[in-house]
Amino acid sequence: MSDLLAAHGLQAFYGDAQALFGIDLSLAQGELVAIIGANGAGKSTLLKCLTGLVRAPREAVRFKGETIGGLPPGEIVKRGLAMVPEGRRLFPSLSVEENLLIGGLAGRKGPWNLQRLYGLFPILAEKRRDPGTALSGGQQQMVALGRALMSNPELLLCDELSLGLAPIVIREIYAAMPAITGEGMTVAIVEQDLSMAQRVSQRIYCLQEGRVSLSGRSDALTREQISQAYFGV
Ligand code: ATP
Repeated sequence: MSDLLAAHGLQAFYGDAQALFGIDLSLAQGELVAIIGANGAGKSTLLKCLTGLVRAPREAVRFKGETIGGLPPGEIVKRGLAMVPEGRRLFPSLSVEENLLIGGLAGRKGPWNLQRLYGLFPILAEKRRDPGTALSGGQQQMVALGRALMSNPELLLCDELSLGLAPIVIREIYAAMPAITGEGMTVAIVEQDLSMAQRVSQRIYCLQEGRVSLSGRSDALTREQISQAYFGV
C-alpha cells in the first residue's frame, strides 16, 4: 500500500534550538498510528510540522505524493489534513454547534456533517446551543474532535486526546475511532497513556529527544521494548 503521508529526515527548530533531528515516518491509508514519548520528546512539534504550524522544509513532508512541508496551515487543511490540538482550544464565545460548523468552513466535502457527528456523540446534540466552554473536559474534547472531522480530512492528527480526562471518558472517546477509521480515514494520535496507545493503534512510533527511538506493529512490541524506547533505560 502506498503511503498517504511520509516524512523523511524531518528536522524542526524553535529559533536556534533544534526539536526534531531527522524524523522518518509513514502513514498508510486507513491505519491508526500512535506516537508516544516522554514530555519534550517532540511529539507535538512533529504534528505541528505536518500541519504547517511549525515550519518544515518543503521536501521533508509528502502528502498524497505532493510535497507539503512549510505550506500555510489553511492550505494543508484544504488538502485533507486536520488536527485536534492539545488543550482542545474551543472558541469560548461560540456555541458547541458554531464551534463544529467552523471546522467545516476551511475543509472539504465528505461524509462528516453535523448530523453524523451528533450520531457519534449524542451528548453534543443535547448541548448544541451551550457555549463550548460550559461543557465538561470530555465533552469539549468531543467538540474538538468533531470540529476536525467537519473538515472531512483524509488524515486526522490528534494531540493528547486523553489529557486530563477520566478513564471512562477516555474510553468513550476512543470508542469512536472505529467509526472514524471505518471509511478509510487515517488517524495519528499522540498519546501519553502507553496501554491505551498500544491497544487502539496498529503501529507505534516512539520519540525520544527529537528522534524515533522505536517503531513497529503495536501487537508485536513488548512492554520492555516500549519502556526502553520511551525512557531510554
Ligand atoms: P509534551 O508531551 O510535553 O507536549 P512533546 O513530546 O509534545 O512534549 P514538544 O512540545 O514537541 O514535545 O517539544 C519538543 C522540544 O521543543 C522540547 O525541548 C520543547 O522544550 C521545545 N519546544 C516546544 N515548543 C516550543 C516553543 N514554542 N518554543 C521553544 N521551544 C519549544
